[in-house]
Amino acid sequence: MSNNYHFDTLKIRAGYDSKEHNNSTQVPIYQTAAFDLLSTDRAQRIVNSEEQGYLYSRVQNPTIAALEGRIAALEGAVGAVAVASGMAAVSYALLNAGEGGRVIVAAQVYGGTYDAYKKIYPKLGVQIDIVENVNNLDAIRALIKKDTRAILIESVSNPLNAVADIEAIARLAHEYGVALIVDNTIATPYLLRPFEYGADVVVYSATKALSGHGSAIGGLILESGKFDWSAGRHPQFSEKVYTLGDRSFLEAFPDFPFLARARTIYVRLLGAALSPFNAYLILQGIETLSERVKKQSESALKIAVFLSTHSKVAWVSHSSLEGNKYKALADKYLPKGIGGVFSFGFKGSEEETNRFIEALQLFSYQANIGDAHSLVVNPARTTHRELNEREQLAIDLKLETVRLSIGLEDVEDLIDDLKQAFDKL
Ligand SMILES: *Cc1c(COP(=O)(O)O)cnc(C)c1O
Repeated sequence: MSNNYHFDTLKIRAGYDSKEHNNSTQVPIYQTAAFDLLSTDRAQRIVNSEEQGYLYSRVQNPTIAALEGRIAALEGAVGAVAVASGMAAVSYALLNAGEGGRVIVAAQVYGGTYDAYKKIYPKLGVQIDIVENVNNLDAIRALIKKDTRAILIESVSNPLNAVADIEAIARLAHEYGVALIVDNTIATPYLLRPFEYGADVVVYSATKALSGHGSAIGGLILESGKFDWSAGRHPQFSEKVYTLGDRSFLEAFPDFPFLARARTIYVRLLGAALSPFNAYLILQGIETLSERVKKQSESALKIAVFLSTHSKVAWVSHSSLEGNKYKALADKYLPKGIGGVFSFGFKGSEEETNRFIEALQLFSYQANIGDAHSLVVNPARTTHRELNEREQLAIDLKLETVRLSIGLEDVEDLIDDLKQAFDKL
């Protein structure tokens, strides 16, 4: 199918041709571990990457391929690799780019991502340099060393809505031949497409707003196709590989070396493969991505405005509110809205904050975001508990921070629910 259609057509149709699947209108779930190889010659061509063909579902599967084709079309990528979770997407992308060197990472990120900075990468041979303010270009420049291979940021940070100046960070990274990896989970490609601002790799937790139904865990890695992996900082792409017929990934897959390597080294050997059933569920979610995220953004803004005038609220982190320090960046990068996730500061003790959360009836207390149901959480104690007190304060994450993820319920009912919970205190 042509990728020249608009976003809302691609989100329903890209990556799939019913004629290749017994005319099934829905993407079939290929619930199989392996595929018949048919002849020894064909098997040889497939394992040598001389012919495209399915072999084993840890490496590739037609349901998963449809998801990869669809997200690639939505993002304007040369391709995608689906994995079993957002964490697998972040860590495989970081390791694939950073192997044997250093990666500069933002502090304002999902708690699991931050935890892996300390607990995993240095022990696996990737040194981590943390930048506290993602938009402090001088601080990033000062951290670039001769073996720095990549920078990892979130476009809109979880949970405090810091909006990254992707264009400026990409320009700086490229001055040094460093690759920029952007976690675009909160924005989704409906609100923001980081490749348009110079990102080289985009990752997603597909668990969140991409799916929107909270029924599956999944992740995605995408490549722009524009970054030069042969320029010197990423020797892993130029090494000859026996299984590629003594070619390098750059020689064997010149159009998408990053993805080819992520799939054949990381997904194939570390093994966090997505299940075909979850790929199907994520595809179902993507069909309504624009409609959901548009409504969630609108409701989130209304709720943020309500909260910002409430006497029990100390601050609201919604980045498109007047006076927010990220407002100019939100206007530039997120003109359609900032999505459904933002936080506010409860004016009171932690104990009162907890009582407020428990008094909510419509908002579910859950460590998830992007769902059709509205969700609430105390991130300092749950999703971001991996940061110690000093690290939390460095990114303005306080104990009384309440994170909301606005769902698809009627916005008046959501505001009434917040009101009654405030009143109960
Ligand atoms: C949830 C989340 C992740 C991790 O994704 P999982 O699917 O839960 O593994 C990574 N990045 C961001 C921004 C997230 O919100």
